[in-house]
Amino acid sequence: MKVLFVNPVCLDPRVTDADATVVPIGLYYLAAQILDAGFQAAILNLAQADVADPDAAFTAAIESQQPDLIGFSVTNPTRFSAMSLARAARQIRPQTVIVFGGPAPTFMADYFFSACPDLDMIVKGEGEQTCLALVQALAGQTGRTDQQNQRDFSRIPGLVFRDGNTVTDTGPAPLIPDLDRLVHPSRYFAFQHLAMSRGCPGACTFCGSPLFWGTRNVRFHSPEWFFEEIQTLAGKGITHFYISDDTFTMDRDRVLALCRKLIHAGLAITWHAISRVDRVDPQLLAEMRKAGCIQISYGVESGSDAVRKRLGKPVPDAAAVQAFQQTAAAGMIPRAYFIYGSPGETTDTIQESVDLLMQLQPLGAVFYMLVTFPGTRLYQQAKKTGRVNGEIWHQKIEDLPWFEVDGDLDFDRVQQFGHALRKAFYDHLPRFAETVKLADDPSLSPFHADFLSRLGMTFSHGDYSTDDRITDPDGTAKALFERALTCHPDLRAFLGLGMLALKHRHLDSAITILDQGLAHFPGSKDLVLCKGICLMNQHRFADAQACLSPFEHHADVGHYLAVCQQHLETHP
Ligand code: SF4
Repeated sequence: MKVLFVNPVCLDPRVTDADATVVPIGLYYLAAQILDAGFQAAILNLAQADVADPDAAFTAAIESQQPDLIGFSVTNPTRFSAMSLARAARQIRPQTVIVFGGPAPTFMADYFFSACPDLDMIVKGEGEQTCLALVQALAGQTGRTDQQNQRDFSRIPGLVFRDGNTVTDTGPAPLIPDLDRLVHPSRYFAFQHLAMSRGCPGACTFCGSPLFWGTRNVRFHSPEWFFEEIQTLAGKGITHFYISDDTFTMDRDRVLALCRKLIHAGLAITWHAISRVDRVDPQLLAEMRKAGCIQISYGVESGSDAVRKRLGKPVPDAAAVQAFQQTAAAGMIPRAYFIYGSPGETTDTIQESVDLLMQLQPLGAVFYMLVTFPGTRLYQQAKKTGRVNGEIWHQKIEDLPWFEVDGDLDFDRVQQFGHALRKAFYDHLPRFAETVKLADDPSLSPFHADFLSRLGMTFSHGDYSTDDRITDPDGTAKALFERALTCHPDLRAFLGLGMLALKHRHLDSAITILDQGLAHFPGSKDLVLCKGICLMNQHRFADAQACLSPFEHHADVGHYLAVCQQHLETHP
């Protein structure tokens, strides 16, 4: 029995949304359970940036792997790709069982069975148990002697399947009570996105999590299981992780236990997490920082109490401001999610969001236009009042912007709201960065230096360096590097200052700061390389050669050594 899991592509091309190009964590879990049960399973990520022709890649995979079952992970934005690939799969390999799973099919089974004649089944909700039972049934391995029973999908909870002209829904599958019983996906795959829990006790009206997982029963991996997962992945060379729990810090003791394990193991890793502003405190944040966390994203959503209430997240401003200050003070980037174009949004409520943004002083921010989709309370409300019906999903749209079902809003106004928020953020970001307040805790000093220099690099060489909305990114980077060095000797800060000085042709200053860095980090190839380039710019090729030669085995250093050698031969 061979299973091919597929991550299809979004309808609209993505420029910056990295999350849309990675394999959903759920597919790794599904594939791992199936592999562990002795079947064959593979994952095909068609959304990956380097897949030039997804259709051709899909055809090639079917022809080479000859799968008996193809399982698509489907969201609203990827549904058209999934349905078109299902059609192709049916033509290439007619006997293949075609299964959809994920949030969109879970809430729109009727739509998918009517829109996609090639679809055989949907796995609703949490998929591991249902998917494995389905594969076992298809393989005739359930242990029952009755052939008819073996193929009786109606006994598998969590399944919706086409049976002639009818569609049968077997009802919800029981949730897996102990997540630690699941096979470690890291045993079979290498990936960066992880989740220690499933579910969220929140009830945000725009979010699909409460209805998908249920709000009453948040389930967790143990710190031991989760640590083992990270350790295995680190052993496979993964050095940075995205921990994408809905609210990672919901169980404080569990997170502390995990952090202590990570600190004790001394893994050279970094990670990002997502949390709520009312679920963090200074001690927890300090431990997270020491365990490798460098960024926490918080859903702030709006500065207006009235809008937040409508969105189902009535968190007071003061809690948000405190969480953002405490996160930065511990040495992590506090990143804000804001939503605009919400029910009741006006110029005044957007001004309240801008005012809150000024208080939060986030060092990263994402501004989303509110969209709605099946599986959210907001969509249910709109449906009840007749402002939307299921027919809309036959149109070639990814999701439904809220303003389209809200008589008080229109595209131009909502676009202006987004523009005002982004302008406020980018106009003030350099000041937020340069005035960040750090905790007075000597045990955090190296982490503070790392935080400031990392942030500095985003201004000098990263995302903010080429962003026209930011004035003088090099000036901000320089201030951050210099401040980092007042906290602790930091390789990245020395290098950043050296590179900035080189870029602005202050070659003597560059060499001075790089020498200071080399006094602390004599084995740093990057500091040596930067110094060598400075010397070459001063036409001191013999000095550059002497500086670079200890690192001659590095390809990039070898190139500069060859240039020095050539120059010395032609200008003896
Ligand atoms: S937005 Fe966040 S806090 Fe709200 S329900 Fe969704 S996951 Fe929970």
